[in-house]
Amino acid sequence: MTDALRALSVRGEIAVIGLGASGTAAARLLARAGARVYASDAGASAAVVEAAARLRTEGIAADAGRHDLKRIGAAGCVVVSPGVPPTAPPLATARANGVQVMSEIEVALRALPGVPYIGITGTNGKTTVTAMIAHLLRALGHRTCEAGNIGTPLSEVALGGTRPAWVVIELSSFQLHDTPSVAPTVAVLTNLAPDHLDRYGSLEEYYGDKVQLFRNATATSVRVVNADEAEVMRLTSAVPGIVQRFSLRDAGADAWYDVAQQQLVLAGAPLLERALLPLLGAHNVANALAALLAVWNACPGDQSSSGRAKLAAGLMSFHAIAHRLEPIGEVDGVLWVNDSKATNIGAARVALDAMTRPTVLLLGGRHKGERYTMMLDAVQAHAKVVLAYGEAAALIEADLGPHVPVERFGSSIEEVISRARALAAPGDAVLLAPACSSYDMFHNYEDRGATFRRLALPPRVAL
Ligand code: ADP
Repeated sequence: MTDALRALSVRGEIAVIGLGASGTAAARLLARAGARVYASDAGASAAVVEAAARLRTEGIAADAGRHDLKRIGAAGCVVVSPGVPPTAPPLATARANGVQVMSEIEVALRALPGVPYIGITGTNGKTTVTAMIAHLLRALGHRTCEAGNIGTPLSEVALGGTRPAWVVIELSSFQLHDTPSVAPTVAVLTNLAPDHLDRYGSLEEYYGDKVQLFRNATATSVRVVNADEAEVMRLTSAVPGIVQRFSLRDAGADAWYDVAQQQLVLAGAPLLERALLPLLGAHNVANALAALLAVWNACPGDQSSSGRAKLAAGLMSFHAIAHRLEPIGEVDGVLWVNDSKATNIGAARVALDAMTRPTVLLLGGRHKGERYTMMLDAVQAHAKVVLAYGEAAALIEADLGPHVPVERFGSSIEEVISRARALAAPGDAVLLAPACSSYDMFHNYEDRGATFRRLALPPRVAL
């Protein structure tokens, strides 16, 4: 057990907030380090009740359906799972009592000293870039696991017996806020765009948390940044370390897209023809360039012609991740595309820009704060009609209706999809890129995407 983890346990009891996969793994990790742990979750679903019961059998105090706020207020520190809003009562209690709040990632990092990791943040493309980096590291033959927001909690990696050669960690702004010791070997900032204005007081605060990825950077740290975004470059200009830039247009960047030659260029030499990257959209070229630069810098031993060939082969075998601009099937000449993960205006814009066919656009859900006029140019360029649904439908109609055809629906996704089928002609596409969260009508974005897939296609057509 590491000193850094032991240092936490001497402060007194540690309260873990949230009994999902991250919270339970963190509770176990802390208990294994000898800490006294109290884990709790306000939810009382079957999964939460079972998780609490299992922890109790392991000798860890746990409550499902309630937080003992008195106990939390008296804790030595509080560990927060991703997804718990800062306004949640246990966190408010911790703050009011001057108890330090840290992320589950912070706990796990303390248990993994010396394991090199690549950290990825940004508004959009985090999961895609994280998965690509892990895929490329494996293509080079390195034992790698991906963790954090992408799926496996980092605490679970720390609990596992074998130490990977590399960990690739997707980090949200909320996690970065509470991870004081974050210090990746290579840090990647994909892009910045307004998002989460429902949870942040201002854009500056949100961007401020994103750049916490660089809080411990030194002269030897490497950062991979999007040279096409002035805001990214401005916010990181004072960070120490080695800067590696990717760009969709700048031939002076360390990795760039040569549009004339249709080539992805890495470190001064063409690496891969665009057509061989099996992903839709210019944004995915940017994602690939970011991933290439991260791996190139993480693995100097692979900076060779055989390393380049393996990286090219790795990109060629990387396919769209579910719910991320995922072509799901073609029926009667109409291509159906599931981009349920496009939960903000920036993501929905790039999805539209990736469309090469006239598009029936499904837009709607729970509004997140940005006006839909911000995507008007992309809608005008690619959408033949917008089907607005869910809580945000009236606002979407008000913002876009004066400029493009908009049809407004309630909260029946069946109705929306059957209308999309009627409106789409052979050669068209139907794109679900909602620019909203899913919580008004679905459990989450995965549920929304799976429902779209099920209703859109007869089972035999699904790709
Ligand atoms: P995140 O993990 O940051 O949410 P994902 O890789 O899951 O990112 O992609 C989420 C959505 O964001 C995708 O559905 C796609 O529409 C959009 N997206 C992906 N990469 C980019 C990018 N580089 N720039 C802008 N939007 C992107």
